[in-house]
Amino acid sequence: MAPTRRTSRDIRSESRLDVLHALLAAGETTRNELARTTGLSTATVATVVSDLLSGGIVTEARVASGRVGRPTTLLRLNQDRGRIVGVDVAETYIRAVVFDAALDETASAEIAADERHDETEEVVDGIARAVDAALAQAGTPRGEVLGVGISLPGSMQRWGGAAPVMPNAAWRHVDRLRERLDLPIVIDNPLKAIATAELWFGEGRRHSSTITVNLGTGVGAGIILNGAILRGATNFAGEWGHSLLALDGRACRCGRNGCVEAYVGALGIQQTLGAIAPGHPLAAVPLQRDFIDALAAALEPPEPDPAVTETIRLTARYLGAALADLVAIVNPETITLTGWTVWALGDHLVPAVRRSVVEEAPGDAAADLEVQVSTVRGNSVATGIATIALERFLSDVGLVTTRVPTAL
Ligand SMILES: [Zn+2]
Repeated sequence: MAPTRRTSRDIRSESRLDVLHALLAAGETTRNELARTTGLSTATVATVVSDLLSGGIVTEARVASGRVGRPTTLLRLNQDRGRIVGVDVAETYIRAVVFDAALDETASAEIAADERHDETEEVVDGIARAVDAALAQAGTPRGEVLGVGISLPGSMQRWGGAAPVMPNAAWRHVDRLRERLDLPIVIDNPLKAIATAELWFGEGRRHSSTITVNLGTGVGAGIILNGAILRGATNFAGEWGHSLLALDGRACRCGRNGCVEAYVGALGIQQTLGAIAPGHPLAAVPLQRDFIDALAAALEPPEPDPAVTETIRLTARYLGAALADLVAIVNPETITLTGWTVWALGDHLVPAVRRSVVEEAPGDAAADLEVQVSTVRGNSVATGIATIALERFLSDVGLVTTRVPTAL
């Protein structure tokens, strides 16, 4: 793709997104306050707000009467502009979440997916059923839906039971999905979704370069570089879970050996425990989420299980060493951790991971690095993909020049 020139239209689009970000953070605020928090001139803010008001995206909430001078108009995002749906398609479930146009969650529905039966038709049908159920739960007529964002783990996961590494294979089924849902849809992968959630609702609001790491069955990184989400040539950026941690190391689900995921994915952690304490009862727990919950329970005082303590120590070392490589490449200000493994084990894992990253990162790359559990509320994949759908809607109505690739 040829480098694109920044046009005045792009700059105006950036200003609108900056104002939207600030409004989202503030809830209710004034034009003057928006100018202060965004660093835009009051004249630019006035123009941008007028554009957003006429598009129905922003509404004048109420008038605050100051003690002196003119009353001030408060602005907020117009929740009633319509509804956005975010869909998290995981291996073991499909979750659809309905948001209002201010990105507040109003309802959700989850259906179980069977990882052994992942035929295309079933996934398409599962997504449609989850969306229908969530809209029914919210009492939202389809006509009010501005867009549906669908997070598909299309890059590394199976789709249609074929080879595990199939970049973009999922996109071939977009037409089937579009036909079945009959709503405006946008599709992206979970790493771009969590990065977007972090950018709009988490550390991305305070820092310009952030890495958010997802730990679950799979492992990956959402990368925000200088305020923008890193996508790369084929939207594949961030598949750090399949970068090399150990040459000729453990077999990974992707077919390679020694990937980061084979050590810090849920199955990798279980394998570490089995190696430390052969025959340990937790090493045989069949379901991954049960296993991770049991690990968290085994770490509780008064007598933490020594094999489990050692497993966490080693996992933190693996994770710290793998993150140090990312730090060497991206040099972020902060790393946030998310995903169900982190929600269960974060308190035990994060301090040791922080120490390990600082120790292993080259030079001063991690000197001021913050490492913490992500503060994005709710299901960050659903929130992030809904935000991408909102951006797409804003693009469709001509308010922003979208940063979502048009091919998706
Ligand atoms: Zn791999």
